[in-house]
Amino acid sequence: MTLEHSNGTAQTNGKPSHAGGDRIILTTYPGQSVVDPIPLDWGNGDPEKRGPVLVSRESKTITRRNAIGAHGGSYSVYNALAIAAGDLPVNFKPSFENTQPIFDFPPQPAWGDKTKIVSMDPFGHDIVRHYKKHLDAGLDVRPTIAVTKATMRLAEITESIRNGHLEVDGDIVISKEGDVRVTKAAVEPVWYLPGVAERFGIDEGVLRRTLFEQCGGSFPELITRPDIKVFLPPIGGLTVYIFGSPDKVSNPDVKLALRIHDECNGSDVFQSDICTCRPYLAFGIEEAIKEAQNGGSGVVIYFRKEGRALGEVVKYLVYNARKRGGDTADKYFTRTENIAGVRDMRFQALMPDILQWLGIKKIDRMLSMSNMKHDAIVEQGIPILERIPIPDHMVPSDSRVEIDAKINAGYFTVGKRYTDEELSQVKGRGWQNWEDVAH
Ligand SMILES: [Zn+2]
Repeated sequence: MTLEHSNGTAQTNGKPSHAGGDRIILTTYPGQSVVDPIPLDWGNGDPEKRGPVLVSRESKTITRRNAIGAHGGSYSVYNALAIAAGDLPVNFKPSFENTQPIFDFPPQPAWGDKTKIVSMDPFGHDIVRHYKKHLDAGLDVRPTIAVTKATMRLAEITESIRNGHLEVDGDIVISKEGDVRVTKAAVEPVWYLPGVAERFGIDEGVLRRTLFEQCGGSFPELITRPDIKVFLPPIGGLTVYIFGSPDKVSNPDVKLALRIHDECNGSDVFQSDICTCRPYLAFGIEEAIKEAQNGGSGVVIYFRKEGRALGEVVKYLVYNARKRGGDTADKYFTRTENIAGVRDMRFQALMPDILQWLGIKKIDRMLSMSNMKHDAIVEQGIPILERIPIPDHMVPSDSRVEIDAKINAGYFTVGKRYTDEELSQVKGRGWQNWEDVAH
């Protein structure tokens, strides 16, 4: 095996084939004879003129790449494992037959505005239509957005139907057991680096260098290929859930209810009672359904940003520090800051891109108390007409520490905002009850 800095052409002699042969390409530089990127004019509203995002290392595509990183967000690592294990040919090309979106989202002016959408590919759902020429020429263009439809069922929704709080309308809520029709769009991150840097008010060079260094030197082209402006980062994406007809989402004449939710696996799926995540999510879904039933539109957007984007390991360390150190609301954020250095890494600055993509022009009812989400959306020019806190009866008793600390730190409330002194009196449950149980 040889190491080199340019595209190798060595033969593979029938061994597991790698696109660059036996040689490892550590990085590339502009102007090399094998470097011939397809022009990518981010922000051009004409998808053909904008050009496809090409990041694949498939042999025909590798020299034409115009983006850094890999498809699939964090799943790009599993893709590498599958190739390493011999389960997936390195030059595999997907068939996209019948995979097209089930709803044709109408193009929005923001799709052609390089300041409005910087963290997803506005044409990523429709690459088969826009980039057929490139696909036919053998280039490995891939979708980064998929749009489908399904039914969903949540225990809280079923309960609301049983209690008469929610109707079975036969169109959105289709059974008394709680089956709900939903249009879903999954979105993988595609970053236009100058736009991302601008959103954070930092220099593009600083962003590129920090990403390179803090990701273990994974993407040297961030440094050596300043001509490439697009990066597919190895992080989670988002899912849009639309209740009611998806063509209403961009219609400013109907009311829109929206919840922006950041992943909290422990609560969302496993129903931990230490935070308000799942109750607020369920409330958001119910309100979105009601808005759609009233002739409006309901949207819930789920971001993969576990534990305020600090991850579950840090989150559980924080839980331990809270429970062992006296779990009071006045110390809530300090416990996180002591361990993570910051209280939150979700950085909502990029979040509004999906709203721009959907063509959302105003939000009538925002089902979130987060000042960070509110400010990020309003800064991007989308007004929020009403903010709706989680109803008090939905707040689990042990999560008062979290919600009261957040309200004190600036979260929206129509109720009480506690003083620091009062916050020290808001206590979470200890482990006493749990430790009494043999386990
Ligand atoms: Zn949570």
